[in-house]
Amino acid sequence: MNIHEYQAKALLRSYGAPVSDGRAVFRAEEAKTAAGELDGPLWVVKAQIHAGGRGKGSFKEGDAGDKGGVRLAKSVQEAADEAKKMLGRTLVTHQTGPAGKQVNRIYIEDGSGIETELYLALLVDRVTSRISFVASTEGGMDIEEVAASTPEKILSFAVDPATGYQPFHGRRIAFSLGLQGPAIKQCVKLMGILYNMFVERDMEMLEINPLIVTDKGDLKCLDAKMGFDSNALYRQPDIFALRDESEEDPKELAASKYDLNYIALDGEIGCMVNGAGLAMATMDIIKLYGAEPANFLDVGGGATKEKVTEAFKIITSDHNVKGILVNIFGGIMRCDVIAEGVIAAVKEVGLTVPLVVRLEGTNVEKGKEIIRNSGLDVIAADDLKDGAKKIVKAVKG
Ligand code: GDP
Ligand code: MN
Repeated sequence: MNIHEYQAKALLRSYGAPVSDGRAVFRAEEAKTAAGELDGPLWVVKAQIHAGGRGKGSFKEGDAGDKGGVRLAKSVQEAADEAKKMLGRTLVTHQTGPAGKQVNRIYIEDGSGIETELYLALLVDRVTSRISFVASTEGGMDIEEVAASTPEKILSFAVDPATGYQPFHGRRIAFSLGLQGPAIKQCVKLMGILYNMFVERDMEMLEINPLIVTDKGDLKCLDAKMGFDSNALYRQPDIFALRDESEEDPKELAASKYDLNYIALDGEIGCMVNGAGLAMATMDIIKLYGAEPANFLDVGGGATKEKVTEAFKIITSDHNVKGILVNIFGGIMRCDVIAEGVIAAVKEVGLTVPLVVRLEGTNVEKGKEIIRNSGLDVIAADDLKDGAKKIVKAVKG
């Protein structure tokens, strides 16, 4: 789960990390008061969406102005005006995809004078199973681009969990970033704060881009992106409370309510499968026969008829779906339950695209009989290969 920049900065502040003073704004009327509470003489007005690259992004609608999602203002009035222009508009960045994201919240910050922009991140390194620091002098830029063109400018190392964070880790980062004077000590302290926060709050990713040296020579977190391990949210209630459902794919949100493992994709074949492995295999074979999956959907082992019905509704609500492949191996899951769920869903929402069903395993005969007797226009398949061929043919001709 991700949170907004202003929420991440509040968390940073609570741990004693240096961030600017700022105010979150939800309605245009609040903007002027919020900006007035900050010192100036520079204000930064920042669109709050769960995507980076806001500064270089652009708004879909002309009346938001053509300045991107991070704007500098020289007065309270100007800051309030910029906030008003952005609220409710759709911001497109290289991370949002072409559809962009609607801006429903704005963060107004006391502007900083910048000496240098640096890059810093913490993440869980799957190779070493440890938390790694990533630091670079190339701040404010896309780190992927830095990694591709000048990888020598990136320092990365893992921290041994047995010792945890040690001051030498922080000094290593400080020297690689070329810090001087008080910023070195500040760096050693800040890296310790970030590491402890990362562990304590079950983070998956923490990116400060840019981390800056201010014109007064101090370190400061100018941007903050945080991702949390969803499986740990049960023990992080105050983090979970920061969830912004408007940032999530509505189909994925509906799926999470029914405890379905659903991920929206770009293809045309909707898949309903049980088991993550079978779901992967199903997606692979759809690609093999020349089409693309519209989603990953694992209904899980012990799905009920209601859950299957919901899953089917989520798939059919996707307008990109031109055909559906149901591929179930009944182990714990019984084929007749799947059949009943599919039929209940089709009766409720109708069926406007071809549907191929492949059932195997527990109660398979009963399941097939339910589908046969339903009078629905379902294409039966014998195995995975047959199912994939049939749905691709039905969609692509
Ligand atoms: P992003 O584009 O979504 O990554 O948003 P950032 O918060 O990283 O802001 C983008 C850029 O705006 C930064 O790299 C800075 O160059 C600039 N910026 C952000 N805040 C300030 C500030 O307080 N003062 C100044 N001078 N520039 C800022
Ligand atoms: Mn940034």
